[in-house]
Amino acid sequence: MQVDPASSCHFSLLSLGDELVQGKKTDTNSPWLARELVELGLEPEELCTLDDGVSHICAALLRLAVAADVVLITGGLGPTLDDVTRESVAAAAGVGLAEDAGALAWLTGRFQEMGRDMAPSNLRQVLFPEGARVLPNEKGTAPGFHMTIGDTEVFALPGPPREMKPMFRNSVAPILESLGKSLGLLPRARFYLHSTSESVFAEQVHRAGEWMARDANPLVAVTASHGVLSVQLTARDRTKASTQKLEQRARDFRALFGDFIYSEAESRPAFALGANLIAAGLKVTMAESCTGGGIAAALTDVPGISAVFERSYVTYSNAAKHSELGVPESLLETHGAVSQEVVEAMALGAAERAGADLALSVSGIAGPGGGTDTKPVGLVWFGVYAAHRGEVSVSSVSHRFPNADRTQVRTWAVRTGLMLLLQTARDLAKK
Ligand code: ATP
Ligand code: MG
Repeated sequence: MQVDPASSCHFSLLSLGDELVQGKKTDTNSPWLARELVELGLEPEELCTLDDGVSHICAALLRLAVAADVVLITGGLGPTLDDVTRESVAAAAGVGLAEDAGALAWLTGRFQEMGRDMAPSNLRQVLFPEGARVLPNEKGTAPGFHMTIGDTEVFALPGPPREMKPMFRNSVAPILESLGKSLGLLPRARFYLHSTSESVFAEQVHRAGEWMARDANPLVAVTASHGVLSVQLTARDRTKASTQKLEQRARDFRALFGDFIYSEAESRPAFALGANLIAAGLKVTMAESCTGGGIAAALTDVPGISAVFERSYVTYSNAAKHSELGVPESLLETHGAVSQEVVEAMALGAAERAGADLALSVSGIAGPGGGTDTKPVGLVWFGVYAAHRGEVSVSSVSHRFPNADRTQVRTWAVRTGLMLLLQTARDLAKK
């Protein structure tokens, strides 16, 4: 593997399970973790998948620990005898296993809450290699752990993705961030952009000079995913000169892409929107037709959103748009449900009924049927209502999502709706 001299912190991943190597389950943990770790500024070294054999795992760990500063293991933390991560890590570290009193009390309580008796085998789940630090599991019964083998930070996480992901985000990422300096993570800046394609980005940056060159300092890395462009600027080293260059490039970057940058910290549009709304105290509502409540669902993923989100409307039929939102029947008859006039009336009706400062409406033709020459499948209208210090504005915009199936049209409409809300919330906050 070619090692980038600029980066000094490498990670390897070890996913464990007989079913993974037998092809009965697909390893989704490693790609997910790799993306998260790269975002944090670590460089991948090796991804490895193994069966549940102590000697294999122990040997692999010792090998991986030579080249990697951080090793993350997933799987094999359950209560059964084929779950052997704890024994394998202890063997690699040359230590024994010890029961953790805190974890035992937590697990006992967890079973009481669930109204279930704890089987003796569950006690295996509170055994950890000596010297390990226990990582809480919010979604399951197997705690993870963190320990050092030589100079390598080793983390063991549960296999089920719904347990692994929150443990990574809540426990592992903060530890890695706090170890950042000693791990040699390089100074960086991150930007998340909407409504910009990689080609538009490249064109703009090209005009701005040699920012994208492979030997540029800072190094610019761009990835596009789900309509979001993530841009990371990384200093080549930790010197003062490089840090200053990074800060200057970040300022230039803000000047060039200002309107497209929706966050410098949060990649998930719904979470960036939620943070903006909560910070500005802007009450929000939605009137959704073709997205069937998808925008409201995305927003309610955000913890604490109840401070600004009270209710929302799913009005699929014309009758519902009229009775729930007060859209005049004449508008629906004259212009049809997928029209500028109707989405504006939907946004206004929703905002008035919910007492909201901000409302988004959406009505489109998701297909496969229902398209016409003037209103083809993939045409979606969005209405935006915004009230600021007694001043009300209602606007609308249409998007055409071509060659897309029903699921894609609906998914893109949700993302576009979130972005429109985000832009409007940011505009209101600036006023
Ligand atoms: P449990 O307490 O559920 O036994 P565990 O930490 O012991 O958790 P495993 O027994 O290795 O984990 O795996 C449990 C389940 O988690 C697997 O059947 C699989 O559905 C899922 N899983 C494990 N590893 C992965 C992976 N790398 N990618 C995707 N899913 C995984
Ligand atoms: Mg298991």
